[in-house]
Amino acid sequence: MKLTIVYDNEIYVKDIGLKSDWGFSCVIEKEYETILFDTGANGKILLHNMKNLGINPKNIDKIVISHEHWDHKGGLKSLVPYIKDVEVYHLGREVPSEKMISINPEIPEKISEDIWTTGRLKGLVDEQSLVLKSKNGRYLLTGCSHPGVEKILQTAKQIGDIVGIVGGLHGFNKFYVLNELDLICPCHCTAHKQDLQRAFPDIISNCGVGKIIDLNEGI
Ligand SMILES: [Zn+2]
Ligand SMILES: [Zn+2]
Repeated sequence: MKLTIVYDNEIYVKDIGLKSDWGFSCVIEKEYETILFDTGANGKILLHNMKNLGINPKNIDKIVISHEHWDHKGGLKSLVPYIKDVEVYHLGREVPSEKMISINPEIPEKISEDIWTTGRLKGLVDEQSLVLKSKNGRYLLTGCSHPGVEKILQTAKQIGDIVGIVGGLHGFNKFYVLNELDLICPCHCTAHKQDLQRAFPDIISNCGVGKIIDLNEGI
């Protein structure tokens, strides 16, 4: 299972024309399936970065929108001309096209082989995160972590032990809850990136557009 960051406020791979912008999006590629997690704020930038990273939006089989903030679902509409019929797992009311089959996951559920959503977790803004199972263990993929990393981890652990976390960690500062992890890749809105770097120098992996994480082979 391979993760590619296609939308973030930082650039990871330089010199191939990738654009940074406030927001988050990550493509999950499995052998027979491609899942898009969040869509960034601006569809043009999303499609541009996907193109430059060799990811064809026509291959998207499922879409997951972590929460209703514009910097995560803003690019959704621009995908409509490219996609076939896809399931969209989101917590809002409407999807922008009949090609998108709306699913509201209220409780943890399996959405694909080796992939679970935490379902709706209450917070300042309701949000869902994904649990991705690889040979190395289960990883958590988050949008902004508005319900709190602790709460998200607690729910994710009902699905199984978690060995790593990738995504936005917003104002998170209870670093001790990450003590048992092997990988922390703080993206997007993570407020305390430098403090995390100092606290976990051996397991921090920098995020940014173009970053690829192969979960089956480690980082
Ligand atoms: Zn955000
Ligand atoms: Zn947010």
